Amino acid sequence: MAVSFDLSGKTAIVTGANTGLGQAIAVALAGAGADVALVGRSSMADTEAAIAAAGSGKSHTIKADLSTIEPVQDVIDQAIAWTGRADILVNNAGIIRRADAIDFSEADWDAVMDVNLKTVFFLSQAFARPLISEGRGGKIINIASLLSFQGGIRIPSYTASKSGLAGLTRLLACEWAGKGINVNAIAPGYFSTNNTEALRNDPDRNSAILGRIPAGHWGQPEELGGAAVFLASPAADYVHGVVLPVDGGWLAR
Ligand code: NAP
Repeated sequence: MAVSFDLSGKTAIVTGANTGLGQAIAVALAGAGADVALVGRSSMADTEAAIAAAGSGKSHTIKADLSTIEPVQDVIDQAIAWTGRADILVNNAGIIRRADAIDFSEADWDAVMDVNLKTVFFLSQAFARPLISEGRGGKIINIASLLSFQGGIRIPSYTASKSGLAGLTRLLACEWAGKGINVNAIAPGYFSTNNTEALRNDPDRNSAILGRIPAGHWGQPEELGGAAVFLASPAADYVHGVVLPVDGGWLAR
């Protein structure tokens, strides 16, 4: 039997698809044939244009601020109203707040936990409900982090949220694998996006990070797309509960 990475006829939902890793993932999934619902609070014009230029799967924008769980049901309903189905959910939207642990505020704790963990859980629940009631499978891909494995510094709520996300990925995999829903995560290493701008602008942190990456360069967002296509595809049908590092070798060091 030939291995298939083809996503034709599938509908994917990607949160935070306007920029950075979410944009690259949306473009990669569309390139593999999926129709992609682009979810977020900012203009998706760049991502829509990139998908249209590639000329395979089509895209559709769904406006939602994911800092609360208020829009989650509407996001799933709108995606299903668009194509009649939702097969793949990529929980990519995420934020980071930096301060020494000793000074870290409750506001910075709650904001990060809400977007990175609470909304991810309830959006996954809303996505899985129709799949389970219709008795058909699907794919959930959570965007975790090296901070799902390591401690880091000055980002306590981010590390807690991404470590929690690894656990949530495993729990949902255990509950839903038997229902044909694959729940996995990708742990990106250090990628060149808005999320890491402060690090790249700090000459000491920038050279310390670069010097520790075996591949010798910051990840470029398009270097993440292949892992997302794999986990979204039939090729990953027996893959459940993994947190897959795509990190230029960082964790192997
Ligand atoms: P980014 O460029 O800052 O993108 C973050 C995305 O999340 C943006 O689309 C952002 O939308 C969206 N978002 C944040 N809060 C939102 C909200 N309340 N409602 C809707 N959308 C919201 O950073 P990125 O690096 O691409 O991050 C994507 C994911 O990868 C995050 O989960 C991040 O933690 C993870 N990650 C990144 C790296 C890295 O090295 N870059 C490493 C490990 C993990 P707006 O543009 O509207 O704010």
